[in-house]
Amino acid sequence: MKQLVVLGATGTVGRNTLDVAARHPQRVTVLALTANRDVDTMFGLCQVHRPALAVMRDAGAALTLGQRLRMSGLATEVLAGADGLHSAACLPTATHVMSAIVGAAGLLPTLAAVDAGKHVLIANKEPLVMAGPLIMAAAARSGAVILPIDSEHNAIFQCLPAGYRCGAVPQGVAGLVLTASGGPFRDWTPAQLAAATPEAAVKHPNWVMGPKISVDSATMMNKGLELIEAAALYDLPADRLSVVIHPESAVHSLVSYVDGSQLAQLGSPDMRVPIAHALAWPERWASGVAPLDLVALGRMHFEAPDPQRFPCLDLARAALQAGGQAPLVLNAANEVAVQAFLDHQMGFMDMPRVIEHCLEAHPAPCANDLDAVLALDAAVRQTARAAVGRTPEMSA
Ligand code: NDP
Repeated sequence: MKQLVVLGATGTVGRNTLDVAARHPQRVTVLALTANRDVDTMFGLCQVHRPALAVMRDAGAALTLGQRLRMSGLATEVLAGADGLHSAACLPTATHVMSAIVGAAGLLPTLAAVDAGKHVLIANKEPLVMAGPLIMAAAARSGAVILPIDSEHNAIFQCLPAGYRCGAVPQGVAGLVLTASGGPFRDWTPAQLAAATPEAAVKHPNWVMGPKISVDSATMMNKGLELIEAAALYDLPADRLSVVIHPESAVHSLVSYVDGSQLAQLGSPDMRVPIAHALAWPERWASGVAPLDLVALGRMHFEAPDPQRFPCLDLARAALQAGGQAPLVLNAANEVAVQAFLDHQMGFMDMPRVIEHCLEAHPAPCANDLDAVLALDAAVRQTARAAVGRTPEMSA
């Protein structure tokens, strides 16, 4: 029996994880769920899944949830804040932890689950971008098994030899090819991009996702973060990682072997497929998703990304090549920029400007331990917030 904790349970990935788990009650027990503020969704999830523990990051939300659970006679214990998240992430009885908080907020809980030696299913890519080497070193120490959930990285994992473990250099691999849908603005002109709204950016053509990753997908920063994530998970340098646009989102990524073979994983664009794969691993369980209908799909297209219209991809590649903590700078600046865009504080093309400014303002920083990582993350966010206020002059 797998004993599951879901960090970020109320989000898109969290709810899909619980959908898969609920299909296998003989195999999975839901032990603990966490969220930030969304009491209504958390209350509903507690009613269905009856976890022993529910954690709200926000203290007021935790109080409200506790009252509602008591009034409805549910025995779920409620904890609050960073300590509560930590308790859930390394619950002694848990075997599997889904890391599905959005953004850098997931770093400490993810690291706690890794330190505790769990099977850690990582959807939350930002911690891997900001502190990939720290997380992979912690996994090597504790024996934690890292299972990628991001559809591209899960596809790659599925195309690597049986027995492969994340963190090791895969044998016989020439390179990895990440596919990208191109996002909702794939065909937009520079003028259209400059006027793009948050409402349009969050409407992804193929995937249903939370607002932050949807904006990342529209700027193609998502693919840039995924390049860095792939380098951390598969211990490969930037020059062996490439990106190809594939609008149908049927091929989720490819592994190129030295003999010229390329192995790809295909499937419907539904996160329950990689979630079921990682939850069942090394077995296979039903996910509730039908296989692709290849005849209905008919054709598949592939094209190179356009660096002029989508500069975030090159910014991410440059940060990966620069090494050190440049990816952390990129990630912190991006999180601030995306939030400012979602809040209508600046335009779509201001996002790469703010990120580039932060990369220049924090050149080759060195932060080798967790405290230094957190301090640098805070400093970059300050730089980025100041830059958001100056975007009119930056774009002039
Ligand atoms: P959502 O925005 O849908 O959900 C985010 C979850 O994190 C919610 O449960 C939210 O709680 C919680 N949360 C937000 N802020 C905090 C905080 N400060 N402390 C604790 N919990 C917090 O995100 P997604 O599910 O779309 O994405 C989650 C992660 O998975 C991201 O890193 C994303 O890049 C990655 N990912 C997502 C995919 C997708 O298809 N959605 C695909 C591949 C990767 P609340 O609801 O209370 O705000």
